[in-house]
Amino acid sequence: MAADEQVSNMFDTILVLDFGSQYSHLITRRLREFNIYAEMLPCTQKISELGWTPKGVILSGGPYSVYAEDAPHVDHAIFDLNVPILGICYGMQELAWINGKQVGRGDKREYGPSTLNVLDDANPLFKGMNNSTVWMSHGDKLHGLPTGYKTIATSDNSPFCGVVHETKPIYGIQFHPEVTHSTQGKTLLKNFAVDLCHAKQNWTMENFIDTEINRIRKLVGPTAEVIGAVSGGVDSTVASKLMTEAIGERFHAILVDNGVLRLNEAANVKKTLVEGLGINLNVVDASEEFLTKLKGVTDPEKKRKIIGNTFIHVFEREAEKIKPKDGKDIEFLLQGTLYPDVIESISFKGPSQTIKTHHNVGGLLENMKLKLIEPLRELFKDEVRHLGELLGIPHDLVWRHPFPGPGIAIRVLGEVTKEQVEIARKADNIYIEEIKQAGLYNQISQAFACLLPVKSVGVMGDQRTYDQVIALRAIETTDFMTADWFPFEHSFLKKVAARIVNEVDGVARVTYDITSKPPATVEWE
Ligand code: GLN
Repeated sequence: MAADEQVSNMFDTILVLDFGSQYSHLITRRLREFNIYAEMLPCTQKISELGWTPKGVILSGGPYSVYAEDAPHVDHAIFDLNVPILGICYGMQELAWINGKQVGRGDKREYGPSTLNVLDDANPLFKGMNNSTVWMSHGDKLHGLPTGYKTIATSDNSPFCGVVHETKPIYGIQFHPEVTHSTQGKTLLKNFAVDLCHAKQNWTMENFIDTEINRIRKLVGPTAEVIGAVSGGVDSTVASKLMTEAIGERFHAILVDNGVLRLNEAANVKKTLVEGLGINLNVVDASEEFLTKLKGVTDPEKKRKIIGNTFIHVFEREAEKIKPKDGKDIEFLLQGTLYPDVIESISFKGPSQTIKTHHNVGGLLENMKLKLIEPLRELFKDEVRHLGELLGIPHDLVWRHPFPGPGIAIRVLGEVTKEQVEIARKADNIYIEEIKQAGLYNQISQAFACLLPVKSVGVMGDQRTYDQVIALRAIETTDFMTADWFPFEHSFLKKVAARIVNEVDGVARVTYDITSKPPATVEWE
């Protein structure tokens, strides 16, 4: 992407250089919360290759020791930018290493809360911070003041808990302001970005819409056409709506009905996207093709592969049929990549780092000779949702639970047939309907029904039955890395179970999954 088309050239930006701490992305997250645009790049970033000028630079924490032989170090050109710099933990140790090398192993590791003692009340960085709880996580410490610096805060175990350069706005702090355990951490980051860097607090989705639409128009140009897949989820819908706002009919959305979507999903998506949002959408019913390929397959990994490959195949075939009016080929592929995926692929993982490419698109880009366009790649999920609301996307869609790419194929355990999918789909629909009815949908992060490949004996209307089992799953989580099962009222479970057994032919029994993640995963396959 050309430099002038980068978001970092359109909004005042704080550059976060990542030394590999597990908290680095939170620095970016916190700054965005008070409407300052921040971007994270690996600590190895060359400043001359940046293409934009930050309003301030933050050096993150990291697992290394600055004095170790292979420790990562920052490009000294950051000091020539003449903007405020804040070093956090490793970042501070890096500043000290550059200015006198007085860093070494501490007598004890310090992990947990500590109290900040601010020595210089007049210093803008620590405004509102004195006596607040700050979170420590380090084993190394400063053994003396960096050359040209003075101490402005201490804590019980850290005599150099906060330091500042005598004449320049270069700061180091031993604690982590980005974690919520540092009670006034957000205040400190705001003091830095607003009062010291003078970054404008104009990063809002209202402002983003206009700049983004302009950026897309510039990138795509006056004639080129763009294609993209939609899934019925929030990310692809928001991305498609943005494209439509920017280039209208030159954006072509494709929904591939793979036969394992939710009940009435293809028809519902068509209604919302075409009638409601004016998106130029083509629905392709490839369900027979997918189900034929899935015949006899029970291994979950094989199911995923078959669905992924068949998707690429069908998508390419459909794309062929879309011929722009001027006879030229389609130039761009839209992808709903979000910032956490970008962070995952660029975060600093040590000297032997390899860059991961995104899921499915690799194949499509190569085969079809397409260029990638990712209008959401700077956004966190909650920003995408906010944007979705502003773009007039229905509330229910904006707040929809995530749904896996292989869909119901991995929620029908064992062989996937049309009949089995139908059972799982109907049970799932009743379950979700009841969750919404009970007003619980937004408290739950993800809920679905699975069809188990076992048969169980039952009795219905004096007749012995021998039918299948549905397992219900509902979890609460903030990040999907760990999750707990949702504590439904017994009366709720009773009602759902009764409805499923009564209304869905082929189901004799309903169970509720009470396993957390770990040890279980969210999905069953
Ligand atoms: N590895 C360094 C230490 O142990 C820095 C730790 C950090 O940045 N959290 O002190």
